[in-house]
Amino acid sequence: MSWFRKLHNQIILGLILGLLFGIVSAAMGWGTFTRNWIAPFGTIFLRSLFLIAVPLVLASIITGVASLSDTRKLSRIGGKTIGIYVATTVAALVIGLILVNVLRPGDGVPEDVKDRLTAEYSEAAEVRAESATDAMEDRGPLQFVVDMVPDNFFGSASSNRNMLQVVFVAILFGIALLMLPGESAKPLILFFDSLNALVIKIVEIIMKTAPVGVFALLADTFNQVSEGDLGGLWSLIGALGFYMIVVLLGLILHMGVTYSAILKFLTPMSLKRFFVGIAPAQLVAFSTSSSGATLPVTMEMAEKNLGVSEEVSSFVLPLGATINMDGTALYQAVAAVFIAQTLGIALGLGAQLEIILLAVLASIGTAAVPSAGIIMLVIILQSIGVPAAGIALILGVDRILDMCRTTCNVTGDATVATLVAASEGQLDAG
Ligand code: ASP
Repeated sequence: MSWFRKLHNQIILGLILGLLFGIVSAAMGWGTFTRNWIAPFGTIFLRSLFLIAVPLVLASIITGVASLSDTRKLSRIGGKTIGIYVATTVAALVIGLILVNVLRPGDGVPEDVKDRLTAEYSEAAEVRAESATDAMEDRGPLQFVVDMVPDNFFGSASSNRNMLQVVFVAILFGIALLMLPGESAKPLILFFDSLNALVIKIVEIIMKTAPVGVFALLADTFNQVSEGDLGGLWSLIGALGFYMIVVLLGLILHMGVTYSAILKFLTPMSLKRFFVGIAPAQLVAFSTSSSGATLPVTMEMAEKNLGVSEEVSSFVLPLGATINMDGTALYQAVAAVFIAQTLGIALGLGAQLEIILLAVLASIGTAAVPSAGIIMLVIILQSIGVPAAGIALILGVDRILDMCRTTCNVTGDATVATLVAASEGQLDAG
């Protein structure tokens, strides 16, 4: 069995065992043990991934850009990448809106369930609404462009929410290196080449610990989700089950139809090779709920298993982790309409088109960390005139859906990287 197959199987085993362990731990009252002795291994895994993400993006983009023959290629790849990212996000939104309008999961939510959810989650909903208001204060239409440019590089590198700023600095460094005369550029190019190789080695080391990390993350999450009130959790899932099914169905359709069609008709990549090759990144995305944390794994899998060139993967994937969130956008569309349906608010075509526009912008602005999507959902709700307090209805099951939408986000990034690589003649389809 190849190393990859072995690792793949071990991560799946870690995931299943972690899930079961978390539920058993909550049912048996082992919560303190799980928090004290299991959860730290998940946190260490997550931290190591975040730790390596910034140096990885920096080193791989700088070496990638500095090795280009001219900057025209960069703007061509950049334009193509952003265009495809927006197109796939719009496709995800259309799927989500069609499903939620046809299946109407919000119509059947009984009055007592509404009251219970509102009472239970209204405080948490207020906290989210406040963060959203803070985030939107004094923001002009060009603020998102302003936000890409840091005034202090170390400030942006020290927070995992500012990956786009790191991408900006790396591109700027790379372009400037391209323009320097050979002698001045050489030591820095060698340095970043070597840093790049070092960082890739570290990612390999971290991946060896992935099965344990995934186990610990899932054990902790499912212990928390079901702790104390397993009956309560099941009744919550019962009440919101239809809404969850609509989101999940949308994500599956988007991955199974949109991405598969792109891969099948526009690239020489076989679907089997793609989905088997990217699976470790999907599993890590599912367990961490963060496409930012998963980025090092996505890049490694895209290059090693899918045959995407480093030049393409180092540019397309970090950009995708920050600006391309198809799963999040689809979830936001379904959630916004579901909340409106539950509250008996009719949303016309105009409001639904507004959701598409806002969710595309939100997916660019959403940080690639757990639960970021729900803050942006508040902003969408406010803009279409649905009370933001309505998120109380869906908060209870958000963590589980976050895991699933992050998996879709990462799969989308890898699909676009494969497509861009194919179109540039930089895909080794094997
Ligand atoms: N957790 C998601 C991600 O990192 C963002 C979100 O939808 O909350 O991709």
